[in-house]
Amino acid sequence: MTTPELQQAYSQAYGRPAEKIFFAPGRVNLIGEHTDYNGGCVFPCALSFGAWLLLSRNSDNVLRFRSLNMTDTYEIPIDAIRPQGNRAWCNYALGCIDIIMRRHPEAKLMSGYDLLYYGNVPAGAGLSSSAAMEVVTARAFTEEMDRKGAELPCGYTDDKAYRTELAKISQLCEREYAGVMCGIMDQFASAQGKKDHAIYLNCDTLEFEHVPVKLDGIKVVITNTHSPHHLDSGAYNDRVRQCQTAVEQISKVRPIKHLAELSEDDWAQVESAITDPIAKKRARHVVGEVARTAAAVEALKKGEIAYFGELMTASHVSLRDDYEVTGLQLDTLAEAAWQVDGVLGSRMTGGGFGGCTVSLVKDEAIERFKAFVGKEYEEKTGLKADFYVAEIGDGVMRLH
Ligand code: ADP
Ligand code: MG
Repeated sequence: MTTPELQQAYSQAYGRPAEKIFFAPGRVNLIGEHTDYNGGCVFPCALSFGAWLLLSRNSDNVLRFRSLNMTDTYEIPIDAIRPQGNRAWCNYALGCIDIIMRRHPEAKLMSGYDLLYYGNVPAGAGLSSSAAMEVVTARAFTEEMDRKGAELPCGYTDDKAYRTELAKISQLCEREYAGVMCGIMDQFASAQGKKDHAIYLNCDTLEFEHVPVKLDGIKVVITNTHSPHHLDSGAYNDRVRQCQTAVEQISKVRPIKHLAELSEDDWAQVESAITDPIAKKRARHVVGEVARTAAAVEALKKGEIAYFGELMTASHVSLRDDYEVTGLQLDTLAEAAWQVDGVLGSRMTGGGFGGCTVSLVKDEAIERFKAFVGKEYEEKTGLKADFYVAEIGDGVMRLH
């Protein structure tokens, strides 16, 4: 939808145009999967699709929530902000407003608001429609609740620090209001994204670097399994625990805090200390993935795109065999992609078990890729895949 179309929808909903419009993107992780909670780096980029928020103040002291993607609407008094039951979608926004006020005591809601959301990230596909919605809300309400009228809200003088704070507010919202014990990658990418750059991010220290993504004649193609990402909290928590077991057993021979501290040479020396075979496989993935992610960033900087693609494929194999978070849908997509001439690499992205794959495909091979992968996928799973040629976009912004 264009901005005028969104304004029209807002006027239809609330009888007047919106005072302000904000946008925040979804994201895709190019490589570095299940490294974040092991002290390692990830390498996501922001997409050109995401969530829009249109708002105006009202004089009724209530927050009215509408979304063009949802039928449920909510009306919450501004002095009764707390998590709503029944998996209410407004939690992803309400939590941000609450957390801004808790982290910034000088921030205050000075009126009610009439809010309209719209998103074009396929929901539940692992491309972080939830982070887009949180970050757009955090961006808008840090500005609205700031009473000093400085250039950046909340007393920030540095844009990068401000954007990191938006990511932190959004992550806390997802944890406390949506009950998802997520890391910070998704919100960070949505807040700090930069057009045609990926973000090499250490999720532990929040140090990061924007790395140019120059892909002459090659596109990043996202393929949606349309099988919701069911890395349920049980499977996720199991992986976290298994990695912890590996850290404890390795620490008997070499004290470490995180698996990401180990190079592949270190691994050869310490792996025999892990007696639990499952924990050993999980740790092997993490150590390998941390090294692959660093190598992928170097390859991109040198323009070695073919090698970058090989590392993506190796990442999928490791997630399939050692981390065991792929499953029939993701494996079918990746394995079909590897057979297509003109595909440089393909892997699952996100938590696993469903969601999307990300592939590097030569321009001339894109139609062939869609036809072959789509056919194989339907034959093997009975599901239809969807394809998006990704554009790497900027992070959260005010549009109007
Ligand atoms: P994803 O992988 O897309 O982030 P999640 O399950 O984490 O999947 O988040 C999806 C949820 O986020 C939706 O069920 C809804 O509650 C909320 N959401 C995302 N985008 C919107 C939107 N545009 N309008 C209303 N709610 C949204
Ligand atoms: Mg999400």
